[in-house]
Amino acid sequence: MREILLNLIKLQDLDLKIKKINQTLETEPEILSNIKEKLTEAQKELEDAKNILAEKEKVKKDAEWELEDTEARIKKSKQKMMEVKTNKEYQALLVEIEELKKIASEWEEKIIIALDEIEEAKKVVAEKEEKVKELEKRLIEAQKRLEISFTNLKKELLDLRKKREEMVKYIPKEILQRYDFIRQHRNGQAVVAVNDGVCEGCHMHIPPQNYNELLRVDKLMTCPSCQRIIYWKGLLEIKNNEEK
Ligand SMILES: [Zn+2]
Repeated sequence: MREILLNLIKLQDLDLKIKKINQTLETEPEILSNIKEKLTEAQKELEDAKNILAEKEKVKKDAEWELEDTEARIKKSKQKMMEVKTNKEYQALLVEIEELKKIASEWEEKIIIALDEIEEAKKVVAEKEEKVKELEKRLIEAQKRLEISFTNLKKELLDLRKKREEMVKYIPKEILQRYDFIRQHRNGQAVVAVNDGVCEGCHMHIPPQNYNELLRVDKLMTCPSCQRIIYWKGLLEIKNNEEK
């Protein structure tokens, strides 16, 4: 019985390792989807920033057209001044030119403001571009890392499964079935140690009578609370000392 129990402990160890690797293989891609999500977000922000920049550039362009137009009108009015016959007409043109000059200076101001805003918008675009680039780089790196670690983990998994196949040969079939049944119902942990009378699976006390029986290691016992297969923790220490 002692040998069977020790083999069960080893089997549990293997199964926990296998479980952990399987979990990693399933959950690791979350890192990727996380980066991808951030990248999509950053790409959208970049798109928005580019749209804002384009808007500001259009505002500037429009203002430049308006300014050009106003200046042309000023020039025309000045030419007309040469041809006027009466003082009244001359005065009217003066007023018109003054008005046009005011309008022109307003457009000039708008161009200056637009230039400032364009500069700001360009900075934002550059920032967002940097962010997108960085995330793209991170994604590629994460993919590479994942590929390497997955290859290693799969190799390890194969190795562990081989060891498991070997190990189960030394465990009677009905005990193995019981072990597998408990494992499925107890979150992968079917064999647990009892330390100082406490089950390490459910942290409940084992009745003293059972504990004394457990120390004898002459039969397979289960925890009265969680039904897991239990062993006395000192058993491993004795075994380790024997091996030394
Ligand atoms: Zn228990």
